[in-house]
Amino acid sequence: MSAGVKTEAEKRKQISVRAIADVEDVNSMKKSFNRHLHYTLVKDRNIATPRDYFFALAHTVKDNLVSRWIRTQQHYYDKDPKRVYYLSLEYYMGRTLTNTMINLGIQGACDEALYQMGLDIENLEAIEEDAGLGNGGLGRLAACFLDSMATLGLAAYGYGIRYEYGIFAQRIVNGEQTEEPDDWLRFGNPWEKARPEYTIPVNFYGKVVETPEGKKWIDTQVVLALPYDSPVPGYKNNVVNTLRLWSAKSPVDFNLKFFNNGDYIQAVIDRNVAENISRVLYPNDNFFEGKELRLKQEYFMCAATLQDIVRRYKVSKFGIRDAVRTSMDSFPDKVAIQLNDTHPSLAIPELMRILLDQEHLPWDNAWDITTRTCAYTNHTVLPEALERWPCSMLACILPRHLEIIYHINHLHLEEVLRKWPGDLDRMGRMSLIEEHGEKKVNMAHLSIVGSHAVNGVAWLHSEILKSDLFKDFYEMWPEKFQNKTNGITPRRWLLLCNPSLADLITDKLGDEWPSHLDQLAKLKPLAKDKMFQNEVMKIKQENKMRLAAQLENDYGVEINPSSIFDIQVKEKFQLYTVEKAGVGTWRSTEENDNFCIIDSILLQVKRIHEYKRQLLNVLHIITLYNRIKKNPKGNFVPRTVMIGGKAAPGYYTAKKIIKLVNLVGRVVNNDPVIGDRLKVIYLENYRVTMAEQIIPAADLSEQISTAGTEASGTGNMKFMLNGALTIGTMDGANVEMAEEMGEDNIFIFGMRVEEVEALKVKGYDAMEYYNSNEELKLCIDQIKDGYFSDGNAGEFSDIADILLKWDRFYLLADYEDYIKCQDRVNEAFMNKRKWAEMAINNIASSGKFSSDRTIAEYAREIWGVEPSWEKLPSPHEKV
Ligand SMILES: *Cc1c(COP(=O)(O)O)cnc(C)c1O
Repeated sequence: MSAGVKTEAEKRKQISVRAIADVEDVNSMKKSFNRHLHYTLVKDRNIATPRDYFFALAHTVKDNLVSRWIRTQQHYYDKDPKRVYYLSLEYYMGRTLTNTMINLGIQGACDEALYQMGLDIENLEAIEEDAGLGNGGLGRLAACFLDSMATLGLAAYGYGIRYEYGIFAQRIVNGEQTEEPDDWLRFGNPWEKARPEYTIPVNFYGKVVETPEGKKWIDTQVVLALPYDSPVPGYKNNVVNTLRLWSAKSPVDFNLKFFNNGDYIQAVIDRNVAENISRVLYPNDNFFEGKELRLKQEYFMCAATLQDIVRRYKVSKFGIRDAVRTSMDSFPDKVAIQLNDTHPSLAIPELMRILLDQEHLPWDNAWDITTRTCAYTNHTVLPEALERWPCSMLACILPRHLEIIYHINHLHLEEVLRKWPGDLDRMGRMSLIEEHGEKKVNMAHLSIVGSHAVNGVAWLHSEILKSDLFKDFYEMWPEKFQNKTNGITPRRWLLLCNPSLADLITDKLGDEWPSHLDQLAKLKPLAKDKMFQNEVMKIKQENKMRLAAQLENDYGVEINPSSIFDIQVKEKFQLYTVEKAGVGTWRSTEENDNFCIIDSILLQVKRIHEYKRQLLNVLHIITLYNRIKKNPKGNFVPRTVMIGGKAAPGYYTAKKIIKLVNLVGRVVNNDPVIGDRLKVIYLENYRVTMAEQIIPAADLSEQISTAGTEASGTGNMKFMLNGALTIGTMDGANVEMAEEMGEDNIFIFGMRVEEVEALKVKGYDAMEYYNSNEELKLCIDQIKDGYFSDGNAGEFSDIADILLKWDRFYLLADYEDYIKCQDRVNEAFMNKRKWAEMAINNIASSGKFSSDRTIAEYAREIWGVEPSWEKLPSPHEKV
């Protein structure tokens, strides 16, 4: 989707921004732009393409940041504060240009400079590729955290992998998902700076030998890690932190064997295999796929990062000129390492290996340093998502690390038995090594044992960790367990994506709220103010009109802009496996068992389902359709339902659900009896940039996961901040959203966690619900009988089967309450004043969900550093 036509409000805003842009700034911006067009892009205005203009602008903006970047790093070197290292396999950054201009406060000057040169800045912004180095919430959280860590003045660094291909582009062809590689670096990345001089070797394979100085890992194969740095500007505070992403590079002597055998050409060609490590992001969200290449990616990132951290620790001057630290004792006082899920958990045995084998510390000393340095964030309780690496794979690729893990486990289990003598069951449950079947390392257990803090990402999720998934560990170390409810950066998710609403809020509250989001609470008294309601709803309507025009253009479906814009977007359709366990009997597993025999029919069922329950939404759509068909003259509140998200490639049933949504849409959208009362849009290729475009236009946000399955959610917070109302279950952060705004301002339905647990114990029989609700029965029969697939009964019969026989997520148990709740939504929507009041109450209650609040809590309660809202001095740079 490209930027649409400018609304009156936006034009007015532009004029006001231009008015305040400093003439000198504008002139220097124009000069810099022309210089880059000439010297960097080697073009003139006659032959420059829009992309050239984008790059010239990006370089101009980057120039405004480099002095701040250098000075910030110099400041850290001089002051030597405790450093915070955020380790993540994913950074879902989206675009950088607009965010950078906003955080530097140069948007007005850039806008005016381009206007004076006859260029439209919005058209150029739309040319930037998304940096899609993430799957969904976990990767986007890392991106929001970087923004907040810089805004809070923390000496923080993001570390990850510079994937050559990010998350695939989704195309819908004949209703089905297809994948295209995301070649995001094709035209170059104007923000990154390669630092080949800091290249670091990473070892794989080899063997461990005993030497007089201790253990040695020898005969390894080396892959080089080449760092690329990107700037992370704080919001108007002159701080610029660093995101350092590693790219794999073959060493010169790679495959020397071939070389010596005279096969020079083959040796050069084979250098590529080492570089495959940073080739592509694994497109799994909340799902563990035990692939060797993924293990190598995880270790590659951890090993390169830890060498960098130790190097920086050693050269820090800690107040003494030209001094070099030789003792590792103060490491935990100077370094905090945060593990974004278990993906970077090999940092724990890697740090141990450095301390033991290279620094020659005694085990207990090394272990004390490691555990005081590391902290672990858990992101899911779904069993199929938990990482369990086979010991055989570790023994081959990381033999020394496996030894260290075994010894950690040995000492850990001794401690367990000291605390609970003779409790062998407990010992088995708490082991880092799972012995049933193939021996595997449970990476979550390793992360808990090797960290001083373990946190969940919303209150409910953290409670479930303590009472269920990590109960034994909680009983052993209650003080380790914490909660850090997720948040989102208000810069991208309001200032950038909804400028009209941001301006309105600034009119009322002044301009400090973007870094002090609690101030939004001051809007609460205005919730019943008719003038303010009108202003808020006028902005919403303009956002809806713009999206409607875009959707009509993209999908050829006519949109009723006064309908409820009802949106469910999730980056991934969650999948689970149903395993063959004999005819008619099924159980779930994380194993890779694709084919199952049921009633002698060969049926392919890979990881099917989604805990996010898009199918429940589809059941609601079909119910509305049937109601209108049954009563064509009836009064219905019009709706436009939008669903978006990518299925993991190769997972059959998730893709089938996408197809069902598309085919239901085809039937609904083309039925003249339905008209403009119901439309269904499948949002193709949902990603950060699309989220920025649709969320400000949403009336209703669907957050309908089975209670106890969504750890937090952050999409829910983005909608709330932009004045959409939520229909949701008491799951993840929805619980805290309801608490902040009061249950009058949110549509809560469905089973609570305790009720889900009780249903599990009692036994869930979907047929009971099917047989006792006629509307539900009709929907499922239509799916089964091919109503939406031109009578092809086979097309979606497996989806009906899942709902009725193997559904782990109890869709039908929540159906009736969901439909009733949607009816209440319709009623509320008809009362425009009431709806506006609720929307304002949502906005005004969203202060808690700023990632600034989340990061301030991590800083004080886990990392032992204090946030600072003070600005660094401005460099007064003119380029
Ligand atoms: C915020 C965000 C997510 C996470 O959304 P949830 O609804 O919490 O799963 C996923 N993808 C994108 C592009 C996002 O911006």
